[in-house]
Amino acid sequence: MPRVYKFGGASIQDADAIRRLGALLAEGVARPRAMVVSAMGKTTNALEALLAAARRDDQADYRRWLAAIRDDHLAVARALFGPDSQVAAELSRLVDELDAAHGAHREAPYPFHYDQTVGMGELLSTTLVAAWLNEIGVATRWCDARALIVTDDRHQTAEIDWAATHERIASLAAESDEVLLTQGFIGATEGGAMTTLGREGSDFSAAILAEALGADELTIWKDVTGLFNADPRRFTNARQIARLSYDEALEQTWYGAKVIHPRTLAPLQRAGIPLTVRSFLEPEAPPSTIGPEPGEGDRQPAFMLRDDQVLLDVSPRDGGFLDEARMAEILARLAEAGLHANLLDVEALRLRLCVDPAPEKLEPLADALATDYRVRRHEKLTLLTVRHPDKALLARLDGHRTRLAERCSATTAQRLYPAAECPDTWQIPE
Ligand code: ADP
Ligand code: ASP
Ligand code: MG
Repeated sequence: MPRVYKFGGASIQDADAIRRLGALLAEGVARPRAMVVSAMGKTTNALEALLAAARRDDQADYRRWLAAIRDDHLAVARALFGPDSQVAAELSRLVDELDAAHGAHREAPYPFHYDQTVGMGELLSTTLVAAWLNEIGVATRWCDARALIVTDDRHQTAEIDWAATHERIASLAAESDEVLLTQGFIGATEGGAMTTLGREGSDFSAAILAEALGADELTIWKDVTGLFNADPRRFTNARQIARLSYDEALEQTWYGAKVIHPRTLAPLQRAGIPLTVRSFLEPEAPPSTIGPEPGEGDRQPAFMLRDDQVLLDVSPRDGGFLDEARMAEILARLAEAGLHANLLDVEALRLRLCVDPAPEKLEPLADALATDYRVRRHEKLTLLTVRHPDKALLARLDGHRTRLAERCSATTAQRLYPAAECPDTWQIPE
């Protein structure tokens, strides 16, 4: 039964967490054929901060971040392997490599520099985890995802070369019976330049591996027992969903259920591989399974929040209708700016669209539209999306809140409220 496991940053955030993961694999659960591991804890954010310091040439800040990243990893190596281990030397070598590369990349385009820097978190974490698993007797082979996941050169949002990737993974699997442990989030071009698959992309890496290995199951180990009908951190009475279909899961991740990266599901769906979401904190708890068959999650209401949204209210300056030609023009400008409309609300004379906050993308978009359109901007908004709602439920959620924009289809309702009118933690009306 070839299985693939994925462990995220929280499951390896410190030495105790890595020991827990080791115990789980040594005694608690079936050994996987392959496993994908993210960067430790908040390392990816630290690497982004280091990159920002490098780009603005703030040497002091850059050095601070580099030292923090080195120290965090060396502290875990010390706790697991004692002083002066081989692992510590390898971690230091990787941090030195990162430091040395900065001089060369500072003049390069930002997305390329991003990938050479931020992908380092997974190389560090997998070095630690693979060594620990071998130390406790789980025979593990550290594999470099840059030699497995072949991508194009669209840095930060690389596309997979599926045929080449499958071939590389299959030939690696034929070589070794050990647990194959590799990095999430990263790949490389044919020429060997490191690429990344988008923030939170390790789930996607695990799905790529599962498909290439013909796995029977992909298990993603999280700090929650499964997929809920809303983020349990934001909705006090969120309930776990035992089963739902790929299609429903795709809808929910598209609208902002942040528990699984949206790109994860396509390879699994293509190969008919079920995805199980389990808790590394409570491995015995019943999980959630996403597969080809519909489950109760396909019918029940589910809730997704997006914070800090920006509303653009666009109307033609000449007072004309928002016909197809104008809609096409506005949406083309949006795509050119690299923005995605989380909500589209269209009327005869105005189009309202809601996007994530990104001033560096919004300014050029506003400039591009300014000649022909009046654009009003509202900030600090909360977008609530409800799958499978009914009227009574929506009325109770709306309460007295102002609806700045909305959309309703047969299966999905969306509301844009001022954040000031929304609570930090919500209650699903029972
Ligand atoms: P990883 O460690 O794999 O990166 P994430 O932090 O990305 O894990 O995902 C787990 C988190 O997703 C949970 O802690 C939870 O707060 C959040 N989350 C958001 N939406 C949901 C949902 N619908 N069901 C379960 N968890 C959710
Ligand atoms: N480490 C990467 C991130 O934090 C990828 C992942 O964790 O999935 O975005
Ligand atoms: Mg994640």
